Amino acid sequence: MPNASSNLLDNLRDALADVDAGSLRRRRKLAESPCAPVVSLNGRSVLAFASNDYLGLANHPGLIEAAAEGARRWGVGAGASHLVSGHSAVHEALETELARFVGCEASLVFSTGYMANIAVMPALLGRGDEIFADRLNHASLVDGALLSRATMHRYAHSDMQALARLLAASQARRKLIVSDAVFSMDGDIAPLAELLALAEHYDAWLLIDDAHGFGVLGPQGRGSLAEANLRSERIILMGTLGKAAGVSGAFVAGSQVLIDWLVQKSRAYIFTTAMSPMLAHVLLSSLELIENADDRRQHLRGLVTRFREGMAMHAQCLLPSRTAIQPVVIGDNTNTVNIAAALLERDIWVPAIRPPTVPVGSARLRISLSAAHTQAQVDQLVSSLASELDAAPARPG
Ligand SMILES: *Cc1c(COP(=O)(O)O)cnc(C)c1O
Repeated sequence: MPNASSNLLDNLRDALADVDAGSLRRRRKLAESPCAPVVSLNGRSVLAFASNDYLGLANHPGLIEAAAEGARRWGVGAGASHLVSGHSAVHEALETELARFVGCEASLVFSTGYMANIAVMPALLGRGDEIFADRLNHASLVDGALLSRATMHRYAHSDMQALARLLAASQARRKLIVSDAVFSMDGDIAPLAELLALAEHYDAWLLIDDAHGFGVLGPQGRGSLAEANLRSERIILMGTLGKAAGVSGAFVAGSQVLIDWLVQKSRAYIFTTAMSPMLAHVLLSSLELIENADDRRQHLRGLVTRFREGMAMHAQCLLPSRTAIQPVVIGDNTNTVNIAAALLERDIWVPAIRPPTVPVGSARLRISLSAAHTQAQVDQLVSSLASELDAAPARPG
């Protein structure tokens, strides 16, 4: 009798072999220490440019203390979803503080940014509606759009003329424009003012994912929209709390009526256990640190400048980014993986990012800088990177 289950497994083995053949196998590196500029990896100390801990808060002593305090005050688990019995005063306080911080009427806290992004679009749109999405948007925004069952149009990266043409041709009753504020694999910033102008002209919602701007950009780190000085009732702001905020979670902010509606209709909000109240307590402290972290943000900007100046001889590999995300585009998957491996030999950890995370032929090293890095550490990165890039064309593969 044929063994059906072994057939299923054989199919997976074949598919994994194809992944290997394309240099596309993703492997998790096992860190043996907290998120910090120097990480223990396989018993070795490596200098890491791999996290999104832009302000260096993930391992901050004050937040570790707040976690212990939060656990004593609130326990570790919420016990249920927000609408059943999991919504506590500390969640409510966090939502109030987040809304105040970003200058919106109200906010709603989610356990992850992925969940926030799959929550919003299905609550606002359905079949017959249309979504207009930047081609380089984060995967969670693509998934949220697909879940909504609205028709999704993807426009070329930051191409406002293409977006305007799509909007002009749309007959949909309800429209939503969606974009990363800071593009996660490129580091450039969306044309936010133009996006809002188009949203106003065509009466569309504007959903902005500020995962990489929240805490880093704008006055006191209030984010990309604050930096661009943009406000509107049609803006839906999503921010994450696992990057600059150093913890985990996310929020959606906007008008009170929008948030009221999301509480009624967002399946990814309703049918999941509330964020740990301990983490909500930590996030209140994190928000305070963010608000008072101008020195960290200034140091980070200095590191960005230092990195780009240091890489002047290899400027053709850099992208037009002024943010902490500084990709070095190699192109070929195998070369990219080889250079990342060679850097690791030099005790420098930089992730190789390949398709489908980035378009085919644009594999890259995704360098992310943190306020926790020193100038000397950035200099070490630059010199190692420069010598590996100089050696790269001769590398077999
Ligand atoms: C990281 C990220 C997310 C997902 O946030 P998580 O809290 O990690 O789930 C969403 N959007 C963008 C642009 C991101 O970079």
